[in-house]
Amino acid sequence: MTNRNNSFQVRNRFRSVLIPVLILALLVSSCTGNKAELYHRMAKIDAHVHIRTTDTAIMEYAASEGFKLLTINTRSNSQVYIDSQKEYAMKMQSLYPNEISWLATFSMENFEEASWADGVIRKLQKDLDQGAVGFKIWKDIGMTFQDSLGRFVLLDDPLFEPVLVFMEASGFPLLTHIGEPLNCWLPIDSMTVNGDKSYFANHPEYHMYLHPDYPSHESLMQSRDQVLARYPGLKMIGAHLGSLEWDVGVLAERLDHYPNFAVDLAARVCHLQVQERAKVRDFILKYQDRILYATDLGVSEENVNDRIKWAENEWRSDWRYFATDSLMSSRNVEGEFMGLDLDEEVLRKIFNSNALHWYPGAFSDELDSYIPWCRWSLEEKRCMAF
Ligand SMILES: [Zn+2]
Repeated sequence: MTNRNNSFQVRNRFRSVLIPVLILALLVSSCTGNKAELYHRMAKIDAHVHIRTTDTAIMEYAASEGFKLLTINTRSNSQVYIDSQKEYAMKMQSLYPNEISWLATFSMENFEEASWADGVIRKLQKDLDQGAVGFKIWKDIGMTFQDSLGRFVLLDDPLFEPVLVFMEASGFPLLTHIGEPLNCWLPIDSMTVNGDKSYFANHPEYHMYLHPDYPSHESLMQSRDQVLARYPGLKMIGAHLGSLEWDVGVLAERLDHYPNFAVDLAARVCHLQVQERAKVRDFILKYQDRILYATDLGVSEENVNDRIKWAENEWRSDWRYFATDSLMSSRNVEGEFMGLDLDEEVLRKIFNSNALHWYPGAFSDELDSYIPWCRWSLEEKRCMAF
């Protein structure tokens, strides 16, 4: 009898612990389950990719995952290379007019010639006429090109003034990739993510810590900020978390200061994963209208199948990070980290509507949801945030 009573009590106690645990497990799994289902239900945009192929497999795969793509022409050292990227972009867009859009860029060849800026503007206008929905400026501006006196040409150089005036007046947005992650200016053992450690160990030529004669991270950031301040009507998206990836607090200051500034997440999600979860989550909730989901997926003729596998992994694991509270690990991050568990409304902004808003011409069937980001003031001659 005593034994039976004991075992009854044990069983009861066991049940009183087990039942809430089971209910909790069900709740958690149904929540994760809903978020997994939401991934397939939600129309999403990867707002920073490089499609340099006419193989339609990548487009078909993206569509099957619910992704539209913004492909970005980049690098400023060769008009021939820029033209070839443009050809790929236009070809894909002709095949998938509602699934892919593209950004134009310009060449720095002969930039010290007096007619350079006029030539750039003429070409960019033609790109817009042919369907480009904005512009891209790459990090070789600031870190590669030097004038005939040996000075690095930074983005706030007077050279770019006519081009930036044109961009602002066009009403189309500018994606800027200026600088590199701050890790690039740090010794290897102070770097925060594994990918940077191995990349810069293998590429000392790009490791700015070893090249103090190159512009500092701070001076590059200042050159970009100068442009934000001088052209308040220019809507600018800072690629790769605006190269302020190491601290959401520092990035928040820029976003507060420049209402014409948003950022994409391309290739920098791991930098959020190494920061304090609560701080990152608060940052995303506060700036939920100014963060665009992106991966930096690069696809060329020879690697389509490999890159489809890569995209599958990135898109799904990034979704898990933003949408669920799963405990996760990544080759880039030491130790485990927890997903941010953002709600559907915030996810929809980051994975979709922010790209529609910041690149308003990009996906024509969704233009209806475009809300102007600011109001132009005739008196003040500047863009006023709502
Ligand atoms: Zn890129």
